[in-house]
Amino acid sequence: MPPFDHALPDQPMLDTLTALRRDLHAHPEIGFEETRTAAILTHALRDAGCEVVEGIGRTGLVATLRRGDGPAIGLRADMDALAMTENAPGRPHASLIPGRMHACGHDGHTTLLLGAAQALARAGRFKGTVHFIFQPAEEGLGGAQAMVADGLFDRFPMDRVYGLHNMPGLALGEMAVTEGPQLASSDRFEVVFQGTGTHGAKPHLGRDPITAAGAFLTILHSIVAREIDPLAPAVISACALQAGDFAALNVIPDVARVGGTARAFSAQVRDQLEAALARVAHGIAAAHGVTARLDYRRGMPPVINAPVPTAIAASAAIAALGAGAVQRAFPPSPAGDDFAVLGGQVPGCYVWLGNGPAAARALHHNTGYDFNDQALASGIAFWIALVETDLVV
Ligand SMILES: [Zn+2]
Ligand SMILES: [Zn+2]
Repeated sequence: MPPFDHALPDQPMLDTLTALRRDLHAHPEIGFEETRTAAILTHALRDAGCEVVEGIGRTGLVATLRRGDGPAIGLRADMDALAMTENAPGRPHASLIPGRMHACGHDGHTTLLLGAAQALARAGRFKGTVHFIFQPAEEGLGGAQAMVADGLFDRFPMDRVYGLHNMPGLALGEMAVTEGPQLASSDRFEVVFQGTGTHGAKPHLGRDPITAAGAFLTILHSIVAREIDPLAPAVISACALQAGDFAALNVIPDVARVGGTARAFSAQVRDQLEAALARVAHGIAAAHGVTARLDYRRGMPPVINAPVPTAIAASAAIAALGAGAVQRAFPPSPAGDDFAVLGGQVPGCYVWLGNGPAAARALHHNTGYDFNDQALASGIAFWIALVETDLVV
């Protein structure tokens, strides 16, 4: 029997949480609009005996439990849905709002962190402080950054921070906890080659930006192939190309634009990609007698699990679910999560919770996706075990 068994929710509590999860699924709210969700959580968390501070990062909130002196840790759940329409005929709890859907399972993350807070408030055995972080706007709108800008780490100092995401394809009752890179950084770039337009018959009288853009595209892929460590994953893809006019095929234009995405699993490779893109763009421009302007915009940093919280999370997962249910080697994903912003401030660990088989429509961001309610119990057990492992009495 696991040592934290005293705190696990009983079946009636799990039934109540399941009903809440389905209610949240039926009433999805996208980034920074999670007012209904936040109000439900605030009420339930205060009822359970947590201190709750609302309005951190607009619709975000932090609930706190204190049990004497000890370290402080943060457990983060994201609350937002996606701006897409659910297509799940016959699902009783399908979204009631067109253009809004919980297609990433954040309804489950929110529910199981609430369940853990209730259980720990009632029967938790720990020494220290737990901050339950309910974050808005994970899906690309910068909710984590908004909470940090509102003083998350100043107002609620923490030694470590933890995040969890459901994972289709990982069996129910299983988790994956691994050190190092989990999710990629996601940056965008745009290069504008500025030449001098001229008659297509008299290229020598101008400066051709199209030829420069073409040369840039061919050498672009040398960055990953020839400059990045072959054992360090990286992607550069040119995804947009624009120049000239098919209605004017005797005109060399002034300008050619190339845009795309750059992804990496470490801060060092990310810096390398940005520097190399700038060098190649300007070098190619110089060779062609045009100029280049690079606009490189950093999106989310990579999620990289730190050693200490990862070791704690792994022993908690094993205590909660059994050693056979915890994968210690699991491939990183080229998607992103702004948990990276939190893990960039204090040592962090982001774990995967099994959502069951990955059927064709059971993948994140699919119009048929649904969090698996059977995963609530294992997720809650993990959070309880994590708190009692990290803040050991
Ligand atoms: Zn998502
Ligand atoms: Zn997600």
